[in-house]
Amino acid sequence: MDYLKINLDAINQKIVQACQRVGRSPEEITLIAVSKTVEADVMNASVEYGVQVFGENKVQEIRRKFPDVVSGPKWHLIGHLQSNKVKYIIDKVELIHSVDSFKLAEEINKRAGLENRLMDVLIQVDIAEETQKFGCDKDELYQLIKDILKLDHIRIKGLMFIAPFVDNPEEVRVYFKEMKQLFDQIKVEIKHDHLSMDTLSMGMTGDFEVAIEEGATMIRVGTGIFGKRNYS
Ligand SMILES: *Cc1c(COP(=O)(O)O)cnc(C)c1O
Repeated sequence: MDYLKINLDAINQKIVQACQRVGRSPEEITLIAVSKTVEADVMNASVEYGVQVFGENKVQEIRRKFPDVVSGPKWHLIGHLQSNKVKYIIDKVELIHSVDSFKLAEEINKRAGLENRLMDVLIQVDIAEETQKFGCDKDELYQLIKDILKLDHIRIKGLMFIAPFVDNPEEVRVYFKEMKQLFDQIKVEIKHDHLSMDTLSMGMTGDFEVAIEEGATMIRVGTGIFGKRNYS
């Protein structure tokens, strides 16, 4: 599976170059290897080439692959999460990127409480409204954060954003800029023990370099590492 090493080297090089263009350190960036539809043997091979975090978007798929993947790398839930499925992943994932409602947060809080742990989450924000099915609207964001901060077993680490799909990533630069502004604003305006605001998850295979230039600290790359997805 040499292609994994080649792809990972190329991505890492692009991360370094994007950071250099704007005077950031590559150490500020965490690469999430989005392994949806990728089987456990390939995921295990990628760990040998340095992958430390997997991103998955389906609860069922996490449950199925979890026992077959080597321990060590962390798992992140990056896709839409239904409240009734929180119980299946609460003990498996380190970070949930896709919290976008109080109802979901309440369920995460309940399950995390039963496990006696503090669950780290990001709030998924929808600032490019026409294209997004999920994510909290910008006007509701402050209220949602304040409500979630009343829950004891959740820590908000930051924000997550999925840009609209475009051919030229320059078209979504304005959204990344806006996300960074929101992120900085919240960090200044809301102070709370359970709000760390150190993570801004944005950027995928097609647009991660622009996202890094605009302030992403976590990028979620699937195709760029594992190749084109096979959904059959
Ligand atoms: C699939 C997915 C990605 C990765 O997409 P690629 O274009 O393959 O890099 C990133 N984030 C989310 C939320 C996804 O569902």
